[in-house]
Amino acid sequence: THFGFETVAEAEKEARVAGVFDNVAASYDTMNDFMSLGIHRLWKDHFVRSINPGLSTTTTPSAGWTMLDIAGGTGDIAFRLLDHATQINNSPASTITISDINPSMLAEGRKRSLATSYANSPRISWLVANAEKLDTIPSNSIDLYTVAFGIRNFTNKDVALREAYRVLKPGGVFACLEFSGVKNPLLDAIYKRWSFGAIPLLGQLVAGDRESYQYLVESIEQFPKQEQFRDMIKEAGFVVPGKGWEDLTFGVAAIHKGVKP
Ligand code: SAM
Repeated sequence: THFGFETVAEAEKEARVAGVFDNVAASYDTMNDFMSLGIHRLWKDHFVRSINPGLSTTTTPSAGWTMLDIAGGTGDIAFRLLDHATQINNSPASTITISDINPSMLAEGRKRSLATSYANSPRISWLVANAEKLDTIPSNSIDLYTVAFGIRNFTNKDVALREAYRVLKPGGVFACLEFSGVKNPLLDAIYKRWSFGAIPLLGQLVAGDRESYQYLVESIEQFPKQEQFRDMIKEAGFVVPGKGWEDLTFGVAAIHKGVKP
């Protein structure tokens, strides 16, 4: 923005998003299961398997991966990444920073971490930060940048993508899991009925908060679809493998990846 100031619209969006995640933090994990009929767990498992974190290669030696989970919320992705690195790739040296703009979401994550084998582990650090401004993270320092169901909430997605590019090492991977577009018109009609009808209602019944869940549905609708988002990733400087994304459940969600050359 001009002179580095936020516009009123940007500040409003940020405040709105902060309000939504303050409201939903405590019920967030339960609501995810309700809203996606549990499918988000399968998507997240698949996302992490497709990344294969902790794998020892020439660019990421056995010293372990330095990972950064942006919009990490309650830690769903981060714990899976660490599990995979440790159990599948025998990489107990891999570490992760879980970063989120919202301290309430991170607080839920910390609480959850105490029930895992990573309780108080030096392999996890927590960082309150806006994805658009990762000041404390040095350039060229990260092997893997993940963002799951986060980027559609960012005010300036292009700025966040450029920050992702900056912090990644050459050869480092950007991986995003996000709601996307269903191409089949019949399936899309069914999906829209579910999301616009049932989700705000579930929000009201389960979490006592219709409005926040209405916002979540609208933010999904407004987020760029597969091709457009792939082009934004390229625009930030990444090399995109293959067509650039993988559809999950007919495109309800998609995985996008980019490599920093
Ligand atoms: N990644 C987690 C998961 O998959 O379960 C949490 C996803 S949650 C739907 C979205 C998260 O994005 C929230 O925790 C919210 O606070 C965070 N968020 C929104 N805007 C952000 C921003 N500009 N920078 C960093 N995090 C942000």
